[in-house]
Parts: sequence; structure tokens; C-alpha cells
Amino acid sequence: MIDNGYLFAKDEKRLFINTSLGCKSKCQFCYLTKMGIKGMKKKTSDEVLELLKKSDYKWNEDTLITMGCFSECFDEENKDETIKIAKYFLERGNQVQIATKRYVSYDYIEKLLPLIKYYGQFILFVSTSTISQYDNYEKGTEKLEKRFKNFDLIKNNIPVVLYIKPVIENVTIKDVDLYKKLIEEKKISDVVIGSIFTEEENIESVHFSNDSKLFYNECKDEEEIIKSLSKVARVFRRSSEVLKYYKARKELIEKVKVEVYNLLKKDESGHGMEHVNRVYDLSLKFARKEEVDEFIPSLIALLHEVDDYKLFGEENASNLTNAKSIMSKVNIDDNIQEKVLDAIKKIGYKKSLMGIRPESIEGMIVSDADMCDAIGVTGILRSYDYQKSNGKPFFDRGSFPDEKVEVSTYKLCDDSVVRHCFNKLLCLKNLMMTDAGKMEAANRHDIIVSILYHLFEEENASEWKEYLDKFIDNLPK
Ligand code: SF4
Repeated sequence: MIDNGYLFAKDEKRLFINTSLGCKSKCQFCYLTKMGIKGMKKKTSDEVLELLKKSDYKWNEDTLITMGCFSECFDEENKDETIKIAKYFLERGNQVQIATKRYVSYDYIEKLLPLIKYYGQFILFVSTSTISQYDNYEKGTEKLEKRFKNFDLIKNNIPVVLYIKPVIENVTIKDVDLYKKLIEEKKISDVVIGSIFTEEENIESVHFSNDSKLFYNECKDEEEIIKSLSKVARVFRRSSEVLKYYKARKELIEKVKVEVYNLLKKDESGHGMEHVNRVYDLSLKFARKEEVDEFIPSLIALLHEVDDYKLFGEENASNLTNAKSIMSKVNIDDNIQEKVLDAIKKIGYKKSLMGIRPESIEGMIVSDADMCDAIGVTGILRSYDYQKSNGKPFFDRGSFPDEKVEVSTYKLCDDSVVRHCFNKLLCLKNLMMTDAGKMEAANRHDIIVSILYHLFEEENASEWKEYLDKFIDNLPK
């Protein structure tokens, strides 16, 4: 237990940190005065961390760090101290949450980005209890238009949560449609709605009032607002649940990675763990660019090779036995399992030749990432490794490509790497389904084209150069 205003914790699970006590904003519902906090008291981040070091409070990397309860963390005078505290704990692996009613410039968050090890290690909560009556109830806070710009940080891979707490009786409920519009416009995934704090002391980690009683502003409108906003976002009643949700997702992904590694570690066909890791990284990059939640793309990317027919046989390939068994073992929700399996069934060049393509955005993202990994420098090297391991040369000037690539004649083990470039690699650019994939594929495609032109020059293979000229002219623009 620690409780000196600047630092509060009942246990090692959650530590509240404030570099300032008091707030200049004048929210009608502010609880600070009820807690005996009047005026402003400040300490530097170093002073607060010193207090922590000198205390006998024990914390570890699983301790959740919560900021923004007894002050406004992003007021001009304490925003630097806020960022220093966040950095200190992010570096040590802790999850950090900050609630604010101010506009947080990207320059400040940018300082934290290199320290964030997984999606959800740092989460910003943008607090608003009313939209239409903000002038009346949240006087002195940031104007809403500017405050809501904080949600644009979602594009920088930071979860930004809509924090509707407290719910003001007969006021917040009038803005449900405005909140829905905000959620849709800003692509907000997570919302916290509720009374300030609950009476259930056994699950409540915060302290309020000197006699240890918890504030409880029960509000009859809450359930209706929760029901309504649940249709457009994930709704939580407590901010700590959002942090737990993201941490649990990260742990699930780690478990899946271990299972996939155990299955693929011996693969040498170019579809092993190195390929999976590259597709995973590229899928995350595309998901961010496309502003799509990365959880499902992560799972599809990690599991898309675990039933490869070359390694595990045709039966596994058609039933996706390993993907199903891994997801069940780590307890992935049934509806997510379905989405992942549906996408995996539709990913692959050969399937595209049969007219089978992913229909979900998550499937499209991973399909693009998978195909991008087959082009560019990596693509050429993978193809070289594979064809060579099957005794095929890099270039066989006597074996020209098929006139038309068809599923009946397409073969992974081709007559040469160069032939495979024409039969597959140079066709991939036009199979991209997302804007992010199209951009990445265009660069990688040009690399292959350039390598082929150089090769034909060096080999004095003018007939092949002409063939390439014609092939490129005929590719759909
Ligand atoms: S921003 Fe928070 S701390 Fe400041 S007055 Fe409003 S409710 Fe109180």
C-alpha cells in the first residue's frame, strides 16, 4: 500500500501516479474537492520517482500504471513530466494508461513510440461526458473539436479510447447519436462507459475520500448508453479492462507464435518460420496503413502456413487441422476462429488462379503481405532456394514460360527461377487487394524486372529481353 497523493496503490496490480494534484479545469462533476484536493501542488517526475524508490511499495513489470486521475496530465506545466513518467515505465515493460481532456500533440506521443513493445502497452483515454453541453459541464477543458483530434493517434498505432465517465444523468444520454457518429468517423474501437467508481470494493483498485469510502455516482442512463454504443464499438465499464484486453491479446499472439514455431521449425521449403515472420510483420504494417485492427490479420499471418500440403499433406491442407487445433488450444473465440480459417482458405497464388480470393479486409491484408513476400529481393532469393533444392537452374534459356498461366499447368517447382518469375512473380503485383499492398508490391515488382533485364543483358539473351518487354506491355496497368 502506498498513499501520498502523488502515488497511490492498494496492491502491486495498479499504481496511480500524479505529478500534479489539482486541476485548473472546472468540470461540474469533478471529484477532486471531495477528496480534499484544492489548489495546485506539483512535483517533477524525478521527485515523484524518488518518492517511489524510497517507499517500501513493491511493483513489477505487470503493475498497471495509471495517470490522469488527480490532475490534467497534459496541461502545459506538467505535460513534459507526464511523458517522462510514461517513458520510465514503458522502458520497464509496464502498461501505461493516461486519461486526458486536453489535445495531445503527436510530437509528445512520438517520443514514446520507440519504447512501445506491443499494441496496447500504452493507451490514451480521451475523456468526455457530454458533447452538446460541454460548455456547461466541462468548462475550462479543451474544446471538443481539438480534443477529439487525439483519436487521429489511432493511425499511429496507439489505441485511443473514448472515455465516457462519469455518465451525467439526463445529459450524456442525449448525445448517444453524436457519440456514435464520432466512433464511426474516427474509427474508435474501444469505449469505457460508467459511474465514476463502483461500490464493489473487492474489485475496485482506486481510493476515494479520506474515510476510504468509494465514490459511487450510480446513473440510470448507463445501461441504455452501453447497449446503444455496444453496437458500434467494444464497450467496457472500467479503463483497466481495456488494458487487460490488449495484454491478453498480446499473450494469445505469443502463444500462437510458439505453437507455429514448433510446427514449422524444420521447414526448408521457403514457407517456414522466417517467411511467416516476414508476412506477420508486413501484415501489421498493412493493417496500420489500412486502419484495420491488427489482431485478426496477426492470427491469419501466423497460421497461414501451418497446414501447408507440402509439409502436412492434403488432408490437413483442406481441413486446416493445425490452425484449428492451435486456436482451440489457446482459446481464441469461435467467431474469430471462423474469420481466420475463412481467410486462410482463400490465400495463395494457385487459389487466385482458380478465382478464389479473400473477401474480408483482414484476409486481403495477409494475402497481399504473403504475395509481397514472394517478390522483391526476398522473393527472388526464396524462389532461388526452392528451385535449387529441386535441382532446377536459375536460368534456362531454352525453356520459355507458358503462354498463359493456368491452374492446370501451374507448378511451384518450375523449370527455372526465371521461368517462375514469368509464371508467378511478375503476375503478383496485379493481384494486390489493398492500397498498402499495391504500394509495396509496385516497388518489389520493379526490383524483379530490373534483375531480369540485367540478367538478360549479362547473358546476352536478347530474345528473352524482347520477351520481357512484351510481357510487361501486356500486364494490366
Ligand atoms: S479535467 Fe478532470 S481533474 Fe480537471 S476538473 Fe475536470 S474532472 Fe476534475
